[in-house]
Amino acid sequence: MKHARNAKNEAAPARKSEPATAQVVPLTAERFLESAAKRFPAERPDRCSKCGSTFIKHEPAFVHCRYCGKIARLANASLADQEIFELRSGLRIAS
Ligand SMILES: [Zn+2]
Repeated sequence: MKHARNAKNEAAPARKSEPATAQVVPLTAERFLESAAKRFPAERPDRCSKCGSTFIKHEPAFVHCRYCGKIARLANASLADQEIFELRSGLRIAS
């Protein structure tokens, strides 16, 4: 019994009471739009943002790098136009 008490006292070191430093970040739609706007290029770039190659193809809503395969989504580009482009190019099977 005596040994158990000593082990319990040693296992629980005295802790200093520290103030909580956690920060609550609200997950709002505006926050996601801000972060997405940083990732999406606003204009059509001349080079791939990943590898720097100029071997890129401009699609209605994306810039597709033919060298490394990166597909960069353009900000405020129409996905309906992109879908029509893909259907007419034979990239998708029309259903
Ligand atoms: Zn690339």
